[in-house]
Amino acid sequence: MDFLPIFMRLGQRRCLVVGGGAVAERKLRLLLKTDAPVRVVAETVSPEVRQMVDAHGLELYQRRFAADDVVGCGLIIAATNDHASNLAIHRIARKHSIPINVVDTPALCDFIFPANVDRTPLVVAVSSGGASPVLARWLRAKIEAWLPARYGQLARLAERMRAPVKQRLPDEKARRAFWEKILQGPIAEQVLAGREQDAEQALNEALANSAQTATGEVYLIGAGPGDPDLLTFKALRLLQQADVVVYDHLVNPDIIELARRDAQRIYAGKQRQQHTLPQPQINQLLIDKARSGLKVARLKGGDPFIFGRGGEEIESLMALGIPFQVVPGITAASGCAAYAGIPLTHRDHAQSCTFVTGHLKNDQINLDWQDLVKPRQTVVIYMGLVGLAQICAQFIAHGAEPDRPAAIVQQATTSNQKVVIGTLANLPELCAQAQLQAPTLIIIGSVVRLHNHLAWFSTAPAMP
Ligand code: SAH
Repeated sequence: MDFLPIFMRLGQRRCLVVGGGAVAERKLRLLLKTDAPVRVVAETVSPEVRQMVDAHGLELYQRRFAADDVVGCGLIIAATNDHASNLAIHRIARKHSIPINVVDTPALCDFIFPANVDRTPLVVAVSSGGASPVLARWLRAKIEAWLPARYGQLARLAERMRAPVKQRLPDEKARRAFWEKILQGPIAEQVLAGREQDAEQALNEALANSAQTATGEVYLIGAGPGDPDLLTFKALRLLQQADVVVYDHLVNPDIIELARRDAQRIYAGKQRQQHTLPQPQINQLLIDKARSGLKVARLKGGDPFIFGRGGEEIESLMALGIPFQVVPGITAASGCAAYAGIPLTHRDHAQSCTFVTGHLKNDQINLDWQDLVKPRQTVVIYMGLVGLAQICAQFIAHGAEPDRPAAIVQQATTSNQKVVIGTLANLPELCAQAQLQAPTLIIIGSVVRLHNHLAWFSTAPAMP
């Protein structure tokens, strides 16, 4: 971070603005939203600045800037249209160790003005660190449109109720759960609809009836195949509520970053032959954390109910009456299809699609080969990299033509995505040459041919 985002209380700190044109005017408008006294020094002053000076009784010196002007000031804005003057002001500010902003010159700024969305007391500030003010303003406009106008009132209500809520709910977890429920529920909606008094009354009633200890909960969340943009809104919302995040190796680290900063993160592993936590221990962990009143986000790659053992995890929760929610995710097959340009079904190629696991048990893959080799279908094989040669051989042995198209996709939807296209006969060889790394997904069927036509829309994003 080039600039640390902080919000500063100006209080009675005097602010000096040097310059009296349009740029100075914009900064003055902002400063006037605070209570800080303002001093303006400028040889010429625009009518708008003049009007602000008169209306707010600002201190104005209509002359050239002099070094003494900085005395007694806590913040300086150099907004003249003359670079040499701005430089001179900067030098003096440095000498006195007073933070300065030189407009449009990020290199000379101790602080910069972000683009603001003002819902006082709630303020969203967006900055590109001077790299692209237009981008920051564009983002600000998006947030402005998205954030309801009365969010400030909501924050004020929360502020008024903070002490009573704290008194009634001394337990921090219970308190957080209470606020999360209020701020996302009908009481908040009442405030946003302008019915603040009703909302305040309802809030008091909700507080009187609230449980004094938090009840834990588990969110079994499908985190998708890799690209964080493929998370659902619900996944993101619940992830950000979680006190604890338990995640698998398949979950992109960028997604774990989206959890609350203070959330505990626990790696539950599960790489081939490297089970970090055995399944019963994971189940027990979820139970223990939820029972101690915590909200637990159990993040799983793809969809939790597709080769994800999600069923087992919720069974043990259900048996103990622990509340849980399941959030579906985009499974690897869908991710591969979209990002590698291989549709899973297609009018002219495949009327059905089967997902199977190619996991080896005692070096064998037990699948209904007779069924899988039938034409006009797509077969997607999860966990099949190690058994690829065996899979292709079994297909051919059970009557599939050796030139049936087959593909293997490495780390779909991430910047490491690689697609290898071949046939049942040559895919193992091509795959060995490509030195693919897990996770990989195998797709068999004539839809693979469409890859050549559709690959142009493959959209694996750049990710660190
Ligand atoms: N629940 C997950 C699957 C877990 S099984 C889902 O719905 O996607 C693990 C297997 O999923 C891996 O061996 C691999 O075959 C597949 N897989 C998961 N993410 C993948 C990705 N980004 N690219 C390719 N295959 C992936």
